[in-house]
Amino acid sequence: MWGCSALQYPVNTMSADIIIKNGTVLTMNEDKEVIQAGVVIIKGRKIVEVGSNDLLAAYSSKNVIDAAGGIVMPGMINTHTHVSMSVFRSLADDVPDRLNRYIFPLENKMVSKEMSYLGALHGSIEMAKSGVTTMVDMYLYEESAAEAVKEIGLRGIMTQNIIKYPTADGKDAQAKIDLAIEFVENYKDDELITPGFGPHAPHTVNREDLEKIKLLSEEYNLPVSMHVAETETELNDFKDNYGMTPVEYLDSIGILNERFIAAHAIFVTDSDITLMKARDIGVAHNMVANIKSAKGVAPALKMHDQGLRVGLGTDGPMSGNTLDIIGQMGYVAKLHKLANKDRSVMPPLKVVEMATMGGARAIHREDELGSLEKGKLADIAIIEVISANMVPMYSPYSALVYSANASNVDTVIVNGEIIVKDKVLLTYDEVKSRKMMLDFSKRVSAIADTL
Ligand SMILES: [Zn+2]
Repeated sequence: MWGCSALQYPVNTMSADIIIKNGTVLTMNEDKEVIQAGVVIIKGRKIVEVGSNDLLAAYSSKNVIDAAGGIVMPGMINTHTHVSMSVFRSLADDVPDRLNRYIFPLENKMVSKEMSYLGALHGSIEMAKSGVTTMVDMYLYEESAAEAVKEIGLRGIMTQNIIKYPTADGKDAQAKIDLAIEFVENYKDDELITPGFGPHAPHTVNREDLEKIKLLSEEYNLPVSMHVAETETELNDFKDNYGMTPVEYLDSIGILNERFIAAHAIFVTDSDITLMKARDIGVAHNMVANIKSAKGVAPALKMHDQGLRVGLGTDGPMSGNTLDIIGQMGYVAKLHKLANKDRSVMPPLKVVEMATMGGARAIHREDELGSLEKGKLADIAIIEVISANMVPMYSPYSALVYSANASNVDTVIVNGEIIVKDKVLLTYDEVKSRKMMLDFSKRVSAIADTL
């Protein structure tokens, strides 16, 4: 019979769960390839193809997202936060010695499983809507925070805070180590949540407890996140008491390894940096929180350039106030330029790299996350470029670092699931969460007034 069916019907196409088309795709792969009018094909949890619009002839899907010229980029990774502290945001911002005078007493009165869940829910909504797809968290009752992170659909490395002082979730470090073990047992096989251990800081956890945490992290092969060398006092005290820097002290315990993520690392020496590189630890660079508290500018540029695994973090919303990484990027670029008196030292590409692949490297998940490449997990953010602050756009990297803000994020995909579309969160009723937060904040205000 004359007539070839191939001429009358579309050629067979492969089916995809999601196709993203018509975007400026920042792959953040090794060559830092940028694809104009690029296409990303997603099947299940993973990216199966990234390329030009030729791919549209090969794949079909019921779910085609037109990025409309927007920036399609890997989901950003927030490498250090205390997401549940969103309930305390904007309290006592400028009180000196705030941690001891304000935060610890407030937490002792207010923290509960309910608070940890509610704060994490609210903070996860903020992160989801700003293109953060993975967080590294440390807090009290971390299992309750993890529940909320999972509910919103984000990826979380959630570490149970362990500190020697009595806290709402345990009378001593051992009580919190027990909580961590329970949490790890419950979540060790979870697809989105990686449970872990969060010793607070070198001076707030005893050596023997750090030794226990080290062994547990090895036994379960799960991460440790910890504040390290955050203040000059910490550095001086360790030198005086042990003749070692905090980094050297931790290394003497054997806890520094590929499972360890150091938050802050402001007061580190050149030899500390060499040691951190040799131990292959991750580093969370929290520029905004560090400068807001007048602590200093961490040598993150030096660490990055020496090949350390440096990602960006916000710290808790009581320290850095916001939880989005887009808001960090401009500060990271500008403060390092200022500190080095050289406008060329921190180009936007390097900052975007820290926000994506750097974060993935900091958590040792660079094989699965941090770039848009075939075989990686589908964690993706699409940034619109039609709002006034984004027009015109000559360089997508500059636009992201110097022009964009969190509200430019249009669509977010985590683990192959669309969780934000057209700037609307699909996984939770935001009106409901806001009402819960406002009700809780009345109780916080009443307590805060007594401090
Ligand atoms: Zn912190």
